[in-house]
Amino acid sequence: MKQLLSIAARRMASSEALVRPISMAADMFMGTRGCLMTFHRGASAQAWEKLPNRDFYLDTNFLDQFLSHLKERGWDVVTMEEAIQRSKAGKPNDRFVNFSVDDCYRDTYEEIVPLFRRHNVPVTLFVTTGIPDGTLPLWAAGLEDTLLNNDRVILEDGAIDVPTSEAKRAAFHRIADRWDGPRASASYKKFCELNGVDIDAMHWKHAITWEMLEELRDDPLVEIGGHTVTHARISSLSPDGARFELKGSRDRLVERLGIPARHFAFPYGRSGDCGPRDFAIARDAGYASAATTRKGLVRNGQDAYNLPRCTINGADRSLATMELHLSGLTGVAARMTGRV
Ligand SMILES: [Zn+2]
Repeated sequence: MKQLLSIAARRMASSEALVRPISMAADMFMGTRGCLMTFHRGASAQAWEKLPNRDFYLDTNFLDQFLSHLKERGWDVVTMEEAIQRSKAGKPNDRFVNFSVDDCYRDTYEEIVPLFRRHNVPVTLFVTTGIPDGTLPLWAAGLEDTLLNNDRVILEDGAIDVPTSEAKRAAFHRIADRWDGPRASASYKKFCELNGVDIDAMHWKHAITWEMLEELRDDPLVEIGGHTVTHARISSLSPDGARFELKGSRDRLVERLGIPARHFAFPYGRSGDCGPRDFAIARDAGYASAATTRKGLVRNGQDAYNLPRCTINGADRSLATMELHLSGLTGVAARMTGRV
């Protein structure tokens, strides 16, 4: 059954002709239907093709098309604040979408927000404050950049040749899998030494800065919320550690930007990454909501501290796949296959 469902979902997603039937079937549900979508980075279709970690980036040409599609289909793009209000109000036949960008890199400022501005719709930024503070090593971005711009890289156990996009992609995933975990920063530091990478310059090539965030804060289409200090997996921390991450990032946003950051998103965000204890900590830290990455729709009466969000990534470049999210079908499939 699980396999059949996932094959069916893949077949449906591959056919643009199915956009209309999926959307029409879902429209038969008359209640509140809110879809919160999240992604990390954005790159034009041309740049996207060559990126070693391209699934981490949304193709901005596709996003442009999708924002037009939402408007044509009568979906409102709203802030997280408005999404919460609308889920409380529960108006019949209400349909809305929120987009949130997690972590926040330089391309949030250079590529993503300008695109939302062109469509005159809002976007939510969940900032990991260690990025603009320069205290969180962006090892995945640095590894990717080094692979992209060199045909040979040096690892601790020898050099490897990465002459093609395919070789760079394979190397990225092989190395990132090996590094991932508590020793990632140390491995990255050594990698930078071996390859002559200026680790600070690399950070600021990819990080969003507080100056950029100050400018974005003044944009009425931008809503800024918290996404921890160090991008920790909250469920793995002690209560004090979890409070530091949630309250610490909120305090830092208030201090640097003078805004009451009202919304929070859990890093990773699946059921093993955040749970009831962490939802309560989000409330105590002063947030009005907290979002996960469990797929599903926001309905009337949704718990604001356990919000579902659908992650969209580089592989998602079809409107039919987006319609599966908007209809709630990806949430149903995720629950049936235990991917929550
Ligand atoms: Zn994140």
